[in-house]
Amino acid sequence: MHEIDQKCGDASPKTLGVHRSPLPQRTQGEENPYENAIAQFDKAVSHLRLHNGIAEALRHPKRELSVTFPVLMDNGDIKVFRGYRVHHSVVKGPTKGGIRYAKAVALDEVRALAMWMTWKCALMNLPYGGAKGGVAVDPKELSSRELERLTRRYATEISVLMGPESDIPAPDVGTNPQIMAWIMDTYSMHRGFSIPAVVTGKPVEIGGSLGRTEATGRGVAITILESMRRKGLDPKNKTVAVQGFGNVGSVAAKTLYDMGMSIVAVTCSRGGVFHGKGLNPYAVIKHLEEGGCVFNFPDADHITNEELLQLDCDVLVAAAVENQITSRNADKIRAGILAEGANGPTTPEADEILNDKGIFIIPDILCNAGGVTVSYLEWVQDLQSFFWPVNEINNKLEGLMIKAFDSVMECAQRYRVSNREAAQILAIKRVADAMVIRGIYP
Ligand code: NAD
Repeated sequence: MHEIDQKCGDASPKTLGVHRSPLPQRTQGEENPYENAIAQFDKAVSHLRLHNGIAEALRHPKRELSVTFPVLMDNGDIKVFRGYRVHHSVVKGPTKGGIRYAKAVALDEVRALAMWMTWKCALMNLPYGGAKGGVAVDPKELSSRELERLTRRYATEISVLMGPESDIPAPDVGTNPQIMAWIMDTYSMHRGFSIPAVVTGKPVEIGGSLGRTEATGRGVAITILESMRRKGLDPKNKTVAVQGFGNVGSVAAKTLYDMGMSIVAVTCSRGGVFHGKGLNPYAVIKHLEEGGCVFNFPDADHITNEELLQLDCDVLVAAAVENQITSRNADKIRAGILAEGANGPTTPEADEILNDKGIFIIPDILCNAGGVTVSYLEWVQDLQSFFWPVNEINNKLEGLMIKAFDSVMECAQRYRVSNREAAQILAIKRVADAMVIRGIYP
C-alpha cells in the first residue's frame, strides 16, 4: 500500500498504478448465450402444461452478484477485475456450477451457464440447482502469485453466496484443481476450520474425488458409445474430430481411442492437426506436456477450427466454448453424431439446421453432465468424510449417464421432439414439479 500512496499526487489512473478493466460488451443476437438459453427454454416449455407463473419464475435467474475488486500485481500496480456469481434456481437444493476465468466473461454468459446447470443437474437427478461464476480475466496473463491473489479475493467477494450447504463452485474454462484448492482454503480460513465440501474438482490430497478430472470427458465418451449402440454402429475405426483439446476434449479423445475409434483431428483455440489415418491422443498430450501446441504436433496436416467442424467424420465432439456452430456454418457440418462436450456450442438457429439434416445431437446438458455428476459424488464423499475407490466412482458415473441418456431418448420419442428439447423438457418438468410440491412461499 505504501508504494501506491506515494504516487497519489498524480491523478492519472495510470500513474496511480490502477488499470481500468473495460466494461464487458453485450453480445447481440444469435451469439448471446443467455438469449439462446431462454429460446431453448421457451421451446421446451411449449410442450409442458406449466402454470404461467412457474414458467416465468424458472425463466429468470434467482439471484445475481456482480463484483468489482482490486488485485495487487507483482509490480506493485493495482488492477481492477470484474466478476460474477449467478444462481439460477435453488428449488432442488444448493446451487452447483463452475467458475470461468476468461477475458470474454460477461453477465449474460454467466446467466446462461447457470440456467443450463439447473437443467443439467435436474436431468441427472442431482439434488442441486444451477449456478455459474466467472471473472473477466485471461489467466495466462497473470503470474501464479497474481492468480492466487485474484482467486482468494474473488472467493472472498462471492463468499456471501458460497457455502457447502448453499453454493458449491467447481472448475470450468480457465480454472483448475489448484484454483479450487485456493478457494477452499480461503473459505476455510474465514470460518476457522477446513470445509472441503465448499468446492469440487479439488486435488485429491485435500478432499477431491478420484475420477473427477476425467469425469466430463468420460461422460462425453459414454454418451457417444450409447448413441452408436442405438444407431447400430460398431465404434471400431469410426472417425472422430475433436474441437477443443482441453480437459474435456482430450479425455474424450483418449477414451474413444481406447475403444478403437480413430481420432482424425483435434484443435485448440489457435487451430490444430488432421491425420486421415488417425492421431494418437496420448502422443498429442505428451507433445503438449513437452511445451508444444496442438497446431504444431508433428507429422500431421494443419487444420483450422472451421475446417475441423466441417470434416466428413462419424462423430464431431464440440468441446471448446459457446457459439461454434451457428447459422453461418451449420449446413456445412457433415458428422453423423454431434457430441456437445462444451456448454452451448450450437445456437438455436444452427440447431434447427442440424436437426433438418438428420444429425444425431447429444445435447450439452446430457453430453457433458459427467463433470457435475462426479462433483456431486465428491461433495457426498466430503460431507461423509469417507472416500470411494476410482472404479466405484466410474461405475456410478456410467450408470447415471446411461440412465439419463435412456430417459432422454424415451422422452424424445414420447413428445416427438429433438434430443435437446427432450432433455430440456425432462429437466424443466422435474424442477417445475419440485416447485409446485414445495409451494409458493409465503
Ligand atoms: P479447457 O480450458 O481445459 O479446454 C478448452 C479447449 O478449447 C482448449 O483447448 C482451448 O484452446 C479450446 N478453445 C477455447 N476457445 C476456442 C475457440 N474459440 N475455438 C476452438 N477452440 C477453443 O476447458 P474444459 O474444462 O475442457 O471445458 C471445455 C468446455 O466444456 C467448456 O464449454 C466448459 O464449460 C465445458 N464443460 C467443462 C466441464 C469440466 O468438467 N471441465 C464440465 C462441463 C462442461
